[in-house]
Amino acid sequence: MSNCAIVGINWGDEGKGRMVDLLTEKFNVVVRYQGGGNAGHTVINEKGKFALHLLPSGIFRDGVINILGNGVAVDAESLWNEIEAVRAQGVAITPENLKISDRASLLLPWHRELDSLEEARLADKKYGSTKQGIAPFYSDKYQKKTVMAGELLYPDHLFSHLADLLEWKNLTLTGVYGAKPYTMEQMTEWVKNYGEKIKPFLCDTGELLQNAQKNGKRILFEAQLGSLRDLDYGIYPYTTSSNTTAAYAPIGSGFPGARIDEVIGVVKAYSTCVGEGPFTCEWFGKEAEELREAGFEYGAKTGRPRRVGPIDFVATRYGVEVQAATNIALTKLDVLSYMKKIPICTRYIVNGKETDRFPFPALLAEAKPVIEYMDGWGCDISKVRRWEDLPEAARRYVEAVEKAIGCHIGYVSVGPERESIILR
Ligand code: GDP
Repeated sequence: MSNCAIVGINWGDEGKGRMVDLLTEKFNVVVRYQGGGNAGHTVINEKGKFALHLLPSGIFRDGVINILGNGVAVDAESLWNEIEAVRAQGVAITPENLKISDRASLLLPWHRELDSLEEARLADKKYGSTKQGIAPFYSDKYQKKTVMAGELLYPDHLFSHLADLLEWKNLTLTGVYGAKPYTMEQMTEWVKNYGEKIKPFLCDTGELLQNAQKNGKRILFEAQLGSLRDLDYGIYPYTTSSNTTAAYAPIGSGFPGARIDEVIGVVKAYSTCVGEGPFTCEWFGKEAEELREAGFEYGAKTGRPRRVGPIDFVATRYGVEVQAATNIALTKLDVLSYMKKIPICTRYIVNGKETDRFPFPALLAEAKPVIEYMDGWGCDISKVRRWEDLPEAARRYVEAVEKAIGCHIGYVSVGPERESIILR
């Protein structure tokens, strides 16, 4: 294994963080290449239990360099708070082990405010935003209306740029939403309180990555969310505002020429989804409650209860295709141990016709799942560490998933701890 991307195959929250934490042992550099602080990875290792939002999950390994690439929405305020929280748990975070791309754009205070204002305007048609400002941030980035982190190093340039942006943004804030305008005093304060704090971490991460590759170092690209939330390939408009796919990793990392040798797709043994949008396999009532409790399915960032349901072969196969995954980590198999019969969604019925192809987003609201059942295993598997020690019914379940999605399952995770893994 040389360079590798770890990506989500489903709607996010598949357990990518725990896989990155496990596999960083074999890598020298870990790069986050898209998204912002709007989702969370939960990582449990010998240093404790951590909820990461922006920090790459390689931050716990000594000697690993962690990078926030140019594709990331760098929210200096959230990042600084996260750095302080993780440091308070005894983890060293220094300009040696954390690098922020000077080409990453900065999420500004009004992005978060605009996110909330727009969700409030949408009322019952809201997208289910986490209100971290991600959609307004990426809209502005592509309109060329935000600042790059590297501008913090050139204060005269920065403040004149911020003044121009402020004038423009206040037109929207006051005119469209009737909100209070921002002032330069507020922005100066923000630069002092947060911008200055992240300045020591800034560098040309592209150069760093190119040198790492030249010197035979291994690079791990860490994605946020999953295939079905990808801006171009997901369940638009209920997607995130960036590309969650492995193909975006070279662009968003600062090293467009990067070669990715392996794409590890993380699949959850059942389905979960946070926020709004079509979710074909969704369960409600007692059944949902039981699965949610068994898997402790509450958002790491928001604490929101996640929507849950059985594994969806149609969506998962599509997710594998979109990511061009070469290997799969199936997580949370242990959570299904309480079920006598394990439900699987093998096909959809769309407009009266059965299909195993993932439909165009506008048709998803009509899609009904075709559910079949497999035998459960009826015992705790969280201590199992070898494939041959898994109960036969559990092995059959893993093999059925593998067959349905057409990709080898090389890792089976049976618990949140680093060592709760079966290699296959
Ligand atoms: P990510 O954003 O893809 O990293 O996923 P999250 O961290 O949001 O959600 C995954 C959750 O499942 C976390 O709380 C993990 O600690 C937990 N987890 C990961 N793998 C397993 C597993 O195999 N079994 C159990 N029971 N929990 C797991």
